[in-house]
Amino acid sequence: MQVTPRASPVFQILRVAAGSALVTGAVQVLINAYLHLVRRDFIWLSREYVWMTPLGYLALFGALGAGLAVIALAYPRAIGPRVIGFIYGTLGVLSLVLLIPGLHHLAALALSVGAGTRVAAWLARAPDVRSRMMARTAVVLAVVLGGVGASRWALRARADAPASAATPSAAAPNVLVIILDTVRAASMSFLGYARETTPNLAKLGMEGVVFESAFATAPWTLPSHAGMFTGRYPSQLSTDWQEPLDAAAPTLAEVLSRNGYHTAGFVANHYYTSYESGLMRGFRHYDDYRITPRQVLLSTTLTHTRLFWAVLHTDGVLPRLKALARMDLGLESMWTSHRKEAPEVTDEFLAWQARVSSDGRPFMAFLNYYDAHLPYDPPAPWRTKFGADPGELELYDGAIAFVDDALGRMFRELEARGVLDNTLVIVTSDHGEGFGEHGLHGHGNSLYLTELHVPLVIRYPARIAAGTRVLAPVTLRDLAATALDAAGVAVEGGETGIPGESWLAQLGPDSARGSDVISEVSEGINTEPSHPVSRGPMRSLVVDSTHYIRNGDGVEELYHWRTDPGESRDAAPASAATVARLRDILATVLR
Ligand SMILES: [Zn+2]
Repeated sequence: MQVTPRASPVFQILRVAAGSALVTGAVQVLINAYLHLVRRDFIWLSREYVWMTPLGYLALFGALGAGLAVIALAYPRAIGPRVIGFIYGTLGVLSLVLLIPGLHHLAALALSVGAGTRVAAWLARAPDVRSRMMARTAVVLAVVLGGVGASRWALRARADAPASAATPSAAAPNVLVIILDTVRAASMSFLGYARETTPNLAKLGMEGVVFESAFATAPWTLPSHAGMFTGRYPSQLSTDWQEPLDAAAPTLAEVLSRNGYHTAGFVANHYYTSYESGLMRGFRHYDDYRITPRQVLLSTTLTHTRLFWAVLHTDGVLPRLKALARMDLGLESMWTSHRKEAPEVTDEFLAWQARVSSDGRPFMAFLNYYDAHLPYDPPAPWRTKFGADPGELELYDGAIAFVDDALGRMFRELEARGVLDNTLVIVTSDHGEGFGEHGLHGHGNSLYLTELHVPLVIRYPARIAAGTRVLAPVTLRDLAATALDAAGVAVEGGETGIPGESWLAQLGPDSARGSDVISEVSEGINTEPSHPVSRGPMRSLVVDSTHYIRNGDGVEELYHWRTDPGESRDAAPASAATVARLRDILATVLR
């Protein structure tokens, strides 16, 4: 009779840890793939979840296993197969049932403990044989998921080649679209702000044009970016709080890509500019989520729970214990990713530009910097640039200065490479930010100008005289039309399918009129009753020095924003004729 030697508990622990990590990871990958590919839901995970999620579980379960192994070495009888099976069975099932929407965390715990008890009994009946079986399963799954991950890598590496063989004209400039997420016009030193936040943008503006009155089409990321890329207002697009941009409207990157441009995006806002947002369409190369050990760890449900974040971000032993005691296992997937800071966005772009520059084709690149978005957390020395004990606004301004510094380095490098002067550089923001004006904080909750007025600086010596300033209101809707104009590709009714009016046409003495300065917003996923948008979808229109707002409940507001920049005196009751005229323009344009 052959006797199988009894494996030490340490081996049993490590085999079960690996097996349960890979099985849990593989099941979550299947669920994610269904949600992402079939249901088209946002899953708030890196595109590399196929290998990142299992590897994340392997790291978590493996670390726990190492701890258990140390205990088992000291007290071999303390950690038997029953304990091992219970711990990993419970954890594995808990990780997956957390994905069930609406399931109370106590119910999730009860389900998982029940499953853990069954796994404990199953493992205890034949611990050696079954732990080996789990180890073999882990190896098979690792090979399969690793293979899928590796093939995705190979595909990504090929993305540097241009999509089209079309040859752009020799004079076609590069197009560099830089979006400073959440950066409001009011915090720009080149627009008169007292703090020195943007010396490099000020220099860029002096070499090109500063639009002093530029307005976003939406007070939040996704529709605003989508509008810049397609030339359309929010209600003309599919985008919403849980809805990505669909393929209905052509994008700037698609058109330039068809015309032989190299195209790439480098984005730090993982929530609304990643591959899931639909904004990636047309870009051959797209860097969104970081590929780091931390991002791997943040690819499991356990590291998306509020419990995990509360323990991680709480200071002091007692508050940590309190957070633990609350056992809040709700998922906060949307806000969990390894943040990409400004210098990294710059470096990613510069490395790509160097790679693709050899064939002489122009490039179109889109950069999104996310440092000035909550939580404002600039590194030293920007953290204390505007105060030794910085409050929210000082941190926000410090973050803007941090981004400006990364931009300065990029412009100097492009100049050194001989690229800058043949590049249409557009720097703007997707929306502003509130710091208590109108009783509002953040963005996406109203159409007051704190959330819509954004910086806009363009440098392109071939078409723009240095030191130009434009006072007239312009809308970011016209960004794509402007880029196509500079690139020499037809707009408005031409073959591009991208509507809008070029800003470049508005610089001359007989300055042409731009598109209507319209903004829209609908109720968000974290709207509070005090937010104006909680009363329904809103629209607004800026004409000259007036700003008309139509609230969801039909109430209208009118502000003379040049003389009342804080929009504190509602002129609607006394201006019936103006209100009626602006109401008609809105109704006509957004028919
Ligand atoms: Zn944004």
